[in-house]
Amino acid sequence: MNTNVRVRFAPSPTGYLHIGGLRTALYNFLFARHNNGKFILRIEDTDQSRYVENAENDIIESLEWCGIKIDEGPHAPGDYGPYRQSERKDIYRKYAELLIEKEMAYYAFDTTEELDQMRERLQKSGNPSPKYDSITRQSMKNSLTLPNDDVQKLLDSGTEFVIRLKVPRRETIRFEDLIRGHVSFESKGLDDQVLLKSDGMPTYHLANVVDDHLMNISHVIRGEEWLPSTPKHILLYNAFGWDVPQMAHLPLIMSPAGGKLSKRNAETDGIPINTKDYRELHYEPEALINFLAYLGWSPGDDSEIHSVDELCRLFTLDRVSKGGAVFNHKKLLWYNDHYLREQSNHHLAARVKAIAGEGKMKDADTDFMASVIGLVKERVSKLDEITEMAAFFFEDPDHYDEDAIKKWKDDSPKLVSHYRERIEELPEEQFEAATLKHILEEVIKEQGVGFGKLMMPLRIAVTGQGFGPDLFTSMELIGKTSVISRIDSAIKKIG
Ligand code: GLU
Repeated sequence: MNTNVRVRFAPSPTGYLHIGGLRTALYNFLFARHNNGKFILRIEDTDQSRYVENAENDIIESLEWCGIKIDEGPHAPGDYGPYRQSERKDIYRKYAELLIEKEMAYYAFDTTEELDQMRERLQKSGNPSPKYDSITRQSMKNSLTLPNDDVQKLLDSGTEFVIRLKVPRRETIRFEDLIRGHVSFESKGLDDQVLLKSDGMPTYHLANVVDDHLMNISHVIRGEEWLPSTPKHILLYNAFGWDVPQMAHLPLIMSPAGGKLSKRNAETDGIPINTKDYRELHYEPEALINFLAYLGWSPGDDSEIHSVDELCRLFTLDRVSKGGAVFNHKKLLWYNDHYLREQSNHHLAARVKAIAGEGKMKDADTDFMASVIGLVKERVSKLDEITEMAAFFFEDPDHYDEDAIKKWKDDSPKLVSHYRERIEELPEEQFEAATLKHILEEVIKEQGVGFGKLMMPLRIAVTGQGFGPDLFTSMELIGKTSVISRIDSAIKKIG
């Protein structure tokens, strides 16, 4: 067990925490816990133009909701803060300048027009993807080509500049990715990366590397879409003379229809994309976590259900798959189903009451609500479905389901009336499921009809639906007066 493990989740606050980001956070968290390490939240908010108000809060609340505890972050003080990049501006500038001193980076003063001209010129001479690189930098306006005095003058007069990394001309950049194995890139495909922008803000690459180093990050665990950035980062670590953290790039999350799960195809597939949506749609966080853990990882046996604590114990990077992981929404509902049923009826009763709209359900007695939940729990996979399915226990049906009503036949009123007469004679305290069932059996025998002939219209009358939980227990819970009045209205309304 490595006790020096420090990992970070480093989202940019450009929107709500989406499900892919949540999985990255989760894997970092599980890895940290498994290794007795620390899980750090770093907010990468240097791109002010993409900043979304409230995104940081959403990220923190979403992680909290899922039981992912942050050891260090903007709201969890640690020794390596500040944990918001916008509050570390001076640090990046200092390190960019350090690279200039080390002759690993340089000031570039080229204007946008000059850059465009360079690209045009190169394109005309047959270079399809012109770069600002080891060749072109020699004919551009930068601190490598201009005399020192001129550079100083430009800096003193406040001329706009960027700081660029001197990317070596021909170098193969290799690293061992803990998930993907051996990876190599050629430096000749790379631009001289901008490290510090003309507004004085660092680029993602500079800030990310400086912070991972200063925050003592041991493992960088992030989505596969960042793999092409890694060679740039390695060049930067080398330029500073720093050790490179271990790298692990997680497989993409795929849409069931194929392709990467994007906001758009998630919508078409009916998959909520933001963690916030799952919270609002009343998913169980334990289910989402268990499901996401298996989206690209498995413990290597056929077990499927694990609490967060168990996942922390089981999780290792060598069991993360290389290939994309398909988001199977049905599987998520299966997990949700499981975690819902694990909760006691009383606990669920309180939760259902809390989400019920104003009305009888909200005000219901908790014991009564718990009995209702005991009846419907097996038939739903989400908390809010309980409120739908249980509604008839609290309100008389205000309409009858269209499909169900087709089963209300000409003889239905007569059969239901017979049943009604029999149960009306029952004293209140004998209005019990077993008795109610027994009476139904007697009535169908007397009338010489099959079970469904009476059962179906009776269910429609009492619940408004063609399906649902055990009807006799439901009637017992609804109570005699209400059951009888519902039967009367059905006969009147449906005829
Ligand atoms: N800020 C990047 C993001 O939004 C961080 C990528 C990384 O983990 O290096 O995901």
